[in-house]
Amino acid sequence: MSINVTRSSMPSFEEYCEEIKELWDSHWLTNMGAKHKQLQSELENYLNTPHAILYTNGHLALENVIAAMDLPKGGEVITTPFTFASTTHAIVRNGLVPVFCDVNDVDYTIDVNKIEELITDKTVAIVPVHVYGNLCDVDAIKSIADKYSLKVIYDAAHAFGVSYNGVNAANFGDASMFSFHATKVFNTIEGGAITFSDDALVQLLNDMKNFGIRGQEEVAYIGGNAKMNEFQAAMGICNLRHIDEEIAKRRAVVERYRSRLSGIKGIKLCPEQEGVKSNYSYFPVIFDGYKYTRDEIFSMLAQEGITARKYFYPLTNSFDCYKDFPTAGAEKTPVAQFLANRVLTLPLFADLSLDDVDRICNVILK
Ligand SMILES: *Cc1c(COP(=O)(O)O)cnc(C)c1O
Repeated sequence: MSINVTRSSMPSFEEYCEEIKELWDSHWLTNMGAKHKQLQSELENYLNTPHAILYTNGHLALENVIAAMDLPKGGEVITTPFTFASTTHAIVRNGLVPVFCDVNDVDYTIDVNKIEELITDKTVAIVPVHVYGNLCDVDAIKSIADKYSLKVIYDAAHAFGVSYNGVNAANFGDASMFSFHATKVFNTIEGGAITFSDDALVQLLNDMKNFGIRGQEEVAYIGGNAKMNEFQAAMGICNLRHIDEEIAKRRAVVERYRSRLSGIKGIKLCPEQEGVKSNYSYFPVIFDGYKYTRDEIFSMLAQEGITARKYFYPLTNSFDCYKDFPTAGAEKTPVAQFLANRVLTLPLFADLSLDDVDRICNVILK
């Protein structure tokens, strides 16, 4: 039996059908209908945040919230290359220049000791990424941002349900972007949200995702379209009912991986962060000086029908599309480059059986 790297969480067929039944009565399929409103308020509640604006996907949410900060064109944004394409693309598609900061080799988030040396008089914002369910050093980032008056927008795509000393990840920086893509811990098929506390952003983000339309005869802003539809919202309402259970199952999978793979020479696991309640979204393993290389392990697993993922590889600062950017170049971020060449994220989803985890570990350890 093959094992994929992930498998989307879904409610039962009956539960989803029950949830979407009303749509056949209302014939209201999108444009901030009843399901959208319900999910928005449930998420504000779950994430314990004053505002959540829902989007059709996480990427457009990130593009919009960066635009909403009204940063001067050509401004420099400090970010990391150890991320998904979306983070860097969202910065560049806003006419801003990504300046790549290295990550630390403990939790693989932005190295807060290397941020200040990258700040120039053109720096306007920091876009840090919470990776794998680990959180960035939000306190250090806040003090740097305050000192230099920089905006902070978190890519929190991996951090749904994560909290730090009891504070949900939705509440750090000026805003956070969550992705509800099918492969994420919480999904709405495709989807995303921006969370923030500044009341003034509510109207602006709503304008941005719905053509600036405020009433039948009032168009007040040159916005685009990035609305979450009712079927997406219904999936979210169902999945949110089971989220704590899903995270608990992921945790059991991760604990099994840890018990099998800890303490083995050449295999490095990411330590759990102090004070952080994780969502166990990914299980990264670094192969450094192990009897097999990362690429060999990847192939050995593939031969057994097991898909792992080189994630994140390649780094965004080595993408072809950025080769002419003066700030690009993986050699400028050596820790990220080291990790990208050695990391594999192993299959992880709520319904992965512990027997399958053992099968995966047996291949790696043979
Ligand atoms: C998934 C992801 C995104 C983009 O989210 P979509 O909902 O797929 O558009 C952005 N950043 C990171 C780190 C991600 O993992």
